[in-house]
Amino acid sequence: MCNESATTSAHDAVLCPSCHSRLSFHRSPTPDIDACGFESYRLDCRECGAALAGIVDPADEALLLTECEPQLKAALPHMAV
Ligand SMILES: [Zn+2]
Repeated sequence: MCNESATTSAHDAVLCPSCHSRLSFHRSPTPDIDACGFESYRLDCRECGAALAGIVDPADEALLLTECEPQLKAALPHMAV
């Protein structure tokens, strides 16, 4: 059975992957297109402050939203021997 959970109309409202609050998202008329043809966006969640990266897949226009890793700058202290 197919439910409709995958039907995200991505272009008006998206959910923060970190705190699941609603973010308003506007596609730009002049978006950044990367080498693969994806539109890429940067968003910041107002609720939790997460830095988010959004990509619109040109095949189905679905917005994929991922949280940027904020820890990249910080070293990984638990790697100590
Ligand atoms: Zn958030």
